[in-house]
Amino acid sequence: MVIDLRALNTVRVDPDGSAEVGAGARLIEVYAGLAAAGRLLPGGSCPTVGIGGLTLGGGIGVLARRYGLTCDRLTAAEVVTADSCVLTADAEHEPDLHWGLRGGGGGNFGVVTRFTFDTPPAPGLTVFVLPFPAGSVPQVLGAWQQWVADAPPELWASCQISGGNPPTCKVVGCWVGEPDGANRQIDRLVRAAGTRPTGRTVAAKDYLGAMKFMAGCANDTVAQCHPTWEGGRLTRTGFVATSRMLGPGPVDPARLTELMTGRTGVDLLLDSLGGAVAEPAPDATAFPHRDSLASAQVYAGATPATEDRVRATVDEIRDGLARLGAPGAYVNYIDATLPDWGRAYYGANLPRLQRTARRYDPDGVFAFPQSVTAA
Ligand SMILES: Cc1cc2nc3c(=O)[nH]c(=O)nc-3n(C[C@H](O)[C@H](O)[C@H](O)COP(=O)(O)OP(=O)(O)OC[C@H]3O[C@@H](n4cnc5c(N)ncnc54)[C@H](O)[C@@H]3O)c2cc1C
Repeated sequence: MVIDLRALNTVRVDPDGSAEVGAGARLIEVYAGLAAAGRLLPGGSCPTVGIGGLTLGGGIGVLARRYGLTCDRLTAAEVVTADSCVLTADAEHEPDLHWGLRGGGGGNFGVVTRFTFDTPPAPGLTVFVLPFPAGSVPQVLGAWQQWVADAPPELWASCQISGGNPPTCKVVGCWVGEPDGANRQIDRLVRAAGTRPTGRTVAAKDYLGAMKFMAGCANDTVAQCHPTWEGGRLTRTGFVATSRMLGPGPVDPARLTELMTGRTGVDLLLDSLGGAVAEPAPDATAFPHRDSLASAQVYAGATPATEDRVRATVDEIRDGLARLGAPGAYVNYIDATLPDWGRAYYGANLPRLQRTARRYDPDGVFAFPQSVTAA
């Protein structure tokens, strides 16, 4: 069953910052609507990702260390349940449902038609990109892990490793504040890594500008940040992806580099967590990975002809990461072949999620192969 929610894409912001967002809105529409009101929502990077799935699985993005996950800002949701009731789930009404909708994964309890988010005022932001020389991945990764663990919550950074002989890496980040503060943080990383980046882009942006930069459409209008078949300029690309959650301790940089050696065409994106993400207890919402240092996304472009081969490589890296001490996974990079997926996505929160799903959907109308009740 596919329910097309695209028409439910209204974004309305009250003067107190409470924002009502239709469940079919894409991230670029949410960011544009909030930016017009001077507010922000921590969300994900890709402009065409839907606010629905993103929020329900957690919502990891460049403002997460300062403002939390997208689901941490969810104060209420309007939900249509399998018996055709329309419920409001918030801290006082249907609290178990409200808990489950904050990281329990899309499609498990009912159809969300509207989200209400608490949105903070949008400050000035600084984005940066630091490509490092070939052969420096172990040093950069070692320094990066310590750097993000010790950094103030205003700093978010992703260490993006591309497979090869040897693998290469760059650090992409966002700082809540002016470029001076970002530059001080970058200098700390460069000193700790003991290797200089081959370039250094540091740019002040407003909220919408920073979101577009991270989305790869810095110079586009909001309308252009849509797929071509909806009048934008973004084309469809095929890829295979999966995830792991690192930490709380660091992984061995040399062994992780070895895992990416010879893997041309595969990227490993380590997105820092901590800060505001780590503040709630692991069972305060359904999102369990509160003490993770970073999410790890394994990503490789694929076509129908190469898919099986690419998938085998991506699976090897995923399983290698688990052996390096990263057994968890992010439900929003849902993976049909992930071993022990219930525990990997949800940890100790799985039993409560199953009870909640059975209560709101006792006949399993919304069940799918990796719905919580199938675990
Ligand atoms: C290019 C790309 C970049 C990404 N970047 C990020 C990122 O930066 N951060 C991050 O956290 N994630 C990211 N993701 C992952 C993303 O969060 C998930 O793919 C998410 O599931 C997308 O939600 P959707 O609503 O667009 O997808 P859909 O495929 O429509 O939905 C995903 C799941 O959620 C369910 N669902 C969706 N809407 C509702 C609703 N209203 N009510 C009930 N269930 C619903 C669906 O049934 C389905 O099970 C990225 C994904 C892609 C493809």
